[in-house]
Amino acid sequence: MIDFSKKTSRFNSSLIREMTILANKTGAINLAQGFPEFAPPKELLNALLKVTDSVSHQYSENYGVFETRQTIAEKRTKEFGFEIGADEILLTCGSTEAMAVTYLALFDKGDKIGTFDPFYGSYLSNALLTESEIIFTPLTGEKFDIDQKALEDVFKQGIKAFVLCNPSNPTGKVFTRDELLNIAELAEKYDVIIITDEVYEHMVFYPNEHIYFASLPGMYKRTISISSLSKTFSITGWRLGFITAQKEIVDNIRKFHDLLTVCSPTPLQIAAVTALRFGDEYYHELIQLYGRKKGILLGGLDELGISHSTPNGTYYTLVDFSEFTKLDDVNFAKMLTEKYQIAGVPLSGFSHNVNGKTVIRFHFAKEDKTLYEVLGNLRRFVNENEKVH
Ligand code: GLN
Repeated sequence: MIDFSKKTSRFNSSLIREMTILANKTGAINLAQGFPEFAPPKELLNALLKVTDSVSHQYSENYGVFETRQTIAEKRTKEFGFEIGADEILLTCGSTEAMAVTYLALFDKGDKIGTFDPFYGSYLSNALLTESEIIFTPLTGEKFDIDQKALEDVFKQGIKAFVLCNPSNPTGKVFTRDELLNIAELAEKYDVIIITDEVYEHMVFYPNEHIYFASLPGMYKRTISISSLSKTFSITGWRLGFITAQKEIVDNIRKFHDLLTVCSPTPLQIAAVTALRFGDEYYHELIQLYGRKKGILLGGLDELGISHSTPNGTYYTLVDFSEFTKLDDVNFAKMLTEKYQIAGVPLSGFSHNVNGKTVIRFHFAKEDKTLYEVLGNLRRFVNENEKVH
């Protein structure tokens, strides 16, 4: 018998990936793991073809290819409103690695971290990895409002950092300037580092606006901004994430990036420069595309009388099936996959406050025809299942 570490027994593989495995096994439509069904931009694919015989296929510098970092720094300079240098950027293998190496660089056993619930699962898994303690504060009601008192209570407990997912996966909440300024005030008052997860930064529906936490007055010095190219350019398999932070922070996080992955894929970093230089029009079209898909799925759910959240950003909606079933969310998600060929992620993969509800996260980064197929399957579900409440 192999004696695995105690950590191993506390780890479960993410429900997102579990549901993807079940979807693949059963041939169901995968609305679970959030990745686009469609191809990346043509110009980016052409750039990839071009680089394959002209560039290095070897390791890149540990920080990332200079030109890629430089281009990200230029993009961030525009977005943050002040100068960001290439040495304030670290390329990682997806934002997943970015989050893990940030935790490793910041937290020792017993350190406290705050975040909102619902939350993205890796914030908790990384706390297990670093033996740090994560404290949750709820987002409440239909609009996922902050409970101000509960939030300040978390800051009062001596947290070293707060993880802020904005736009938020899975709620689709986009934090307003006032909400962010309020978090900034708490960060200043209690001397807390803010780790942002902004991978949906370019997926915010009008009239909402994405505000970079690092761009708020005085916040850059205490902010570690994590993002990735995965969602923005529909290249989740390229594994290109990045961190933006002051050089000293980047230098320390880099030690763990060096240990874990050495570098992100060199040719892909080079090809990505083309996409990083796209103008405003690209981002405008991206929002329009996802706005249309959101309309198809949410409009269809409304017609079927199935309640759901209305995201201001991201490509997720939380769909509430409580009226139709007595099953818990995990068993319901399995049943929906096996019987109705739709795989989603049970909310309990993102929350400790499921409160007996049967809520499933669906993503809508699918071809329109796939979304219509989903709605057809859901129609069959509604016809075959009486409301139980
Ligand atoms: N971020 C995506 C999601 O929430 C994909 C997660 C993953 O598998 N890395 O579904």
